[in-house]
Amino acid sequence: MQHSTGPYDRIPTREPAALAVSRAWVALAALAVLSVSSASAANMVYFFADNGFGNPVSTLQHPCAEHHNGVTYIAYQGPLEDAYICAYNHQSGEWQGPVKAGDSLMGKQQPARIPGDIDNHGRPALMVDCEGYIHIVFGGHGGYPKFGRNEFGMWGDGRQTHVVSRHPEDISDWERRDNVSPFGTYSQFVHMDDGDIYLFYRHGSHQSDWVYQKSRDNGRTFHPPVSILKHKVREEDSNLHDAWYAWFDKGSGDTITASYVYHPCKTRGHDNARHNGYYMLMDCADDTWHNVRGRELAAPVTKESADKYTLVSNTGDMRSKRGTCRVDANGHPHVTFKQGGYVRYYRWLGNEWQQAVCVTPEPGTGECDLHVESPRAVWLVLARKAAGTGEICWWKTTDGGLTWNKDRCLLNKPGPGFRIGALVRNAHPDARVVASRQMQHHGGLYSELYLLGRNGPIRRRGREAAVLARHLAGLFGTTVTGNLGHD
Ligand code: ZN
Repeated sequence: MQHSTGPYDRIPTREPAALAVSRAWVALAALAVLSVSSASAANMVYFFADNGFGNPVSTLQHPCAEHHNGVTYIAYQGPLEDAYICAYNHQSGEWQGPVKAGDSLMGKQQPARIPGDIDNHGRPALMVDCEGYIHIVFGGHGGYPKFGRNEFGMWGDGRQTHVVSRHPEDISDWERRDNVSPFGTYSQFVHMDDGDIYLFYRHGSHQSDWVYQKSRDNGRTFHPPVSILKHKVREEDSNLHDAWYAWFDKGSGDTITASYVYHPCKTRGHDNARHNGYYMLMDCADDTWHNVRGRELAAPVTKESADKYTLVSNTGDMRSKRGTCRVDANGHPHVTFKQGGYVRYYRWLGNEWQQAVCVTPEPGTGECDLHVESPRAVWLVLARKAAGTGEICWWKTTDGGLTWNKDRCLLNKPGPGFRIGALVRNAHPDARVVASRQMQHHGGLYSELYLLGRNGPIRRRGREAAVLARHLAGLFGTTVTGNLGHD
C-alpha cells in the first residue's frame, strides 16, 4: 500500500550534495559549537522571529521564500515596514537573521499605533538568481509624485525598491539597484528555467496598468515596463475606472500564467468591490498572451477583451478576490478565487472550466495556495480560523477537485488566526510554507513568523528567535516590559 506523507513525496528538491558554505555560515558554525551544549528542547520555540510588522507575509507579494542549495531564505515585512530576511540551513539546522535587507520609504512618517496605520502593500518578494545572489523587491505602493510622471497610471506611496545581496548565498550585506520602476506595488517574481527573470507588479495605485519588467542578466538590468492589463475610464460612466488584482506564476514549459479579478474603481464613492475571475497565459518565446483556448490576445488586455476571452467565472454582484493558480503536467490551470465567503476551486478540463467547488464545507476564507500533484490529485494549503482556533492545514482532492477533505494540519493554536505566504519556491520538504501570527502586545502591531513543512514548524532557540524587545529598544530607545505574548 502506498503511504502518502502529504504533498512532499514528489516535490523536486535540490539536495545539497556538496553544500557551498558561505563566509557567513562559517562564522555561524563557530558560534554554534559554543552554544550547542546549552541548547535543550526546553528553550526551543516554534517561531523563528517575532519582529514581523503588520501583515508581514501574503500570498500576493511572492514568492516570499525560496530554497536554494540547502538553505531556505525568507523575506518579510519588519518594523517600520522595512524588508527583513532570515535563512535556515537544512544540513546544519542553524538559523541566521533577522537581517534588514533594505529601507522602505513608507512606515516612517507616522509611526504606526494601530495595525490599520500600516500600509502592507510593500511586503517583500524574494528570489535567488542563477549565481546564488538573493534579490528582494519591496517598499512600493504606487510611488510618490516626486519620482516624476507615471506613464501607466496614478501615483501612490513609497518606492518600489530592488536590493541584492552583495555576496552569493549570504544574507549579511545588501546593495540597492535602481533598475526597476519606483511606481510598482504588489511585486511578484517569476524565474524561468532559462534564467530569465520577470518582475510583475501594478504600475501605480488602483487606477494603473499591471506590467512586467524582464531581466536576462540575473537582475543587473531590467527592460522597460510592458503593460499587460489596461486601466481606463469606462465609456458609459466617467466615475468608473477599470482596475485589476492579478497573480502570476511560472506555467508549463516556457510560459507564465496570470489569474486575476476585476475592480470597478470609483473615483467618487470608492469601495472595495471586486468581481469575476479571469485566466490567461504568456508564451515567453515571444512574450505574447493567449487565452486558455490558445487564442492570441492583444496586449494590454482591456476589460472588454478579458470578459470576452479570458473569463473563468462571472460572479455578477458577488464579491470575488484573487487566489492563486498552479498548472498540472498537461499545462492545464488549477485556480482558486475567494468568492461569496468561500475558497472556490476551478480546473480547466481541456475544453471547458469545471464548475466551481467550495473547498471547505462552511464559509470562511483565508490565504491559500495550491500544489498540483496530478490533474486529479491536488493539495491546497489554507490558513483560516475555525471555532476560535487559527489553523494552517492541507486540504486534498483525489477526484479532480469535485470533493475536498481536510488532511494534515501544519499548525494550529487558539486565538488569532495565521497568515501565510505563497508556497516556498523550490521548497525543501521540511519548509513549504511561511506563516505569521499577530501577537497581543504593542496593540497587535507585531507578529511571530513560522517556517512549516512535513514535520510542522522548524524550531529555533528562543533567545535567537525572540528579537523584538532588543530590536525595538535599538530603534526607539524604549524598554519593552511585561509578557511579550509568546506561548
Ligand atoms: Zn479602486
